Amino acid sequence: MSSPAGGPVFADRVLNDWLSSVGLGIEYSRAEANTLYYVDEDGQEVPVLDHVCGFGSLIFGHNNPDIVAHAKTVLDRQVPVYVQLSHQSHANDIAAVLHAILRREIPGGDGDYAAIFANSGAEAVEICVKHAELERRARIAKLTEEIARNAEEARGAVGAGRATVAENPYVQFDRASGESDKLEQLLAEAGRRNAELTARGPVHLALENAFHGKLVASVQLTQNPHWRLPFTSLASSTRFLRANRPDEMKAAVEELRTSLLDALVDDGVVTVVERDFPLVGAFFVEPVQGANGMRPLTEAAAREIRAVCDAVGCPLIVDEIHSGMGRTGAFLASSHMGLRGDYYTLAKSIGGGIAKNAVALFHRDRFRPEFEVMHSSTFAKDGFSASIALKVLEMLEADDGRAYRIAAERGDRLKGALTAVAADFPDVVDAVHGIGLMLAVEFKDQTRASSEPLREKAASGMLGYFIAGLILREHHIRVLPVGPAGNSVRFEPSIYLTDADIARTENALRDVCTILRDQEGDRLTP
Ligand code: PMP
Repeated sequence: MSSPAGGPVFADRVLNDWLSSVGLGIEYSRAEANTLYYVDEDGQEVPVLDHVCGFGSLIFGHNNPDIVAHAKTVLDRQVPVYVQLSHQSHANDIAAVLHAILRREIPGGDGDYAAIFANSGAEAVEICVKHAELERRARIAKLTEEIARNAEEARGAVGAGRATVAENPYVQFDRASGESDKLEQLLAEAGRRNAELTARGPVHLALENAFHGKLVASVQLTQNPHWRLPFTSLASSTRFLRANRPDEMKAAVEELRTSLLDALVDDGVVTVVERDFPLVGAFFVEPVQGANGMRPLTEAAAREIRAVCDAVGCPLIVDEIHSGMGRTGAFLASSHMGLRGDYYTLAKSIGGGIAKNAVALFHRDRFRPEFEVMHSSTFAKDGFSASIALKVLEMLEADDGRAYRIAAERGDRLKGALTAVAADFPDVVDAVHGIGLMLAVEFKDQTRASSEPLREKAASGMLGYFIAGLILREHHIRVLPVGPAGNSVRFEPSIYLTDADIARTENALRDVCTILRDQEGDRLTP
């Protein structure tokens, strides 16, 4: 195995040392389809079956020849790459294809979808955060205008002696106060409370163990405390909810219910009415929770989440960055569970494995057109990544969606092999999770293992990395751990996974299970 060349290290010093310590310190030199290659000490090229595939961004594999050939023609044709603030019809071409696919796959999908392009998944999520806040601010402005109008109406009625001011729980009036004086005291108190509330940032909803990115706002939607907590003061907070606990979801929504005070004249009396305040910004949901060990939402949870958003009036943001673009056997994973979102995010495979691209899509009914100039980036919507995205979409949709069918079939075949191993090692494997080519094997906890090296590795939360190291060293297969406890190993290859690849994978997994069952912890140490 080769490792990075010697000499001073200015980047990834800690990361590279750590990768080497768990047996993952490899520099790859070439990649095609599902295979990575490194050059060993003898100068021999060693192939490695890649089950990580750019964390699921390579639905058509590494350096897909059709995509690479297309990229070359784009460069040869001198397609303009960076021409911000000009007509860029390629953006609309992509949006039109996405629109047609979304219409086909979204249950009851009858709307138009407006697209805003980004450079990364996290940026697409942050675009949604911003747009949801724009929506929320518009709702707040409408409410406060109504409240201001009602206050003026009350002033008019009380001033003209047509109304009196009722006792209320918010202000204790002086007995001596006249009606106008009482009203001013009431409006002052209501105004103070309302100003406090309207100045507050939104609270977002997300699911337990969610992953939505690591930028300033998106990292607050990513539950991992290690990544999130140092930065909580920088952005809005998130309430993390368990997908399978509708009672908890309802309770959380109830707890977040708060209201503005509105003074209304009714039948000659000014009374205070509470108006629901939109505190919740949006509900962010991954249809298949990658970082939660590849767990798909159930249809019941999808229904519950939709109901929460409808009740609160906030957008439901379906984050398909990982699960979208065909990986689960449909363009949108959410279509499997009948989840209808208001916004969608896509990234990863839309770059075809050679470009960076991402997009946020908004249902027209909610889209605020002014947002088109409120968010931009030098590199977003560039001509090169746009033409790659169009090629990828064409490849996905070709032959009536052959790629989706292959993803489903290969996924089923792989899942069958993983499940067979799980059935043979019930003391070691907890479960196999996932759908299509988004799978994970969850190992049982080893923190009480009789083997000391196993126990130690499990206690440090690193067991999954050592397992990945062993599979790489001894089987030349690249996997990585996933899941909140790091107890699962992820499988998210391209659609070009062969039966032979699956057989090798099964064999490697059986080896790991035997090590765990027989408590041969030493074998995991590189
Ligand atoms: N959302 C989800 C569901 C993801 O899986 C990821 C990346 N793993 C992101 C957001 C962030 O995307 P990026 O790494 O491109 O910023």
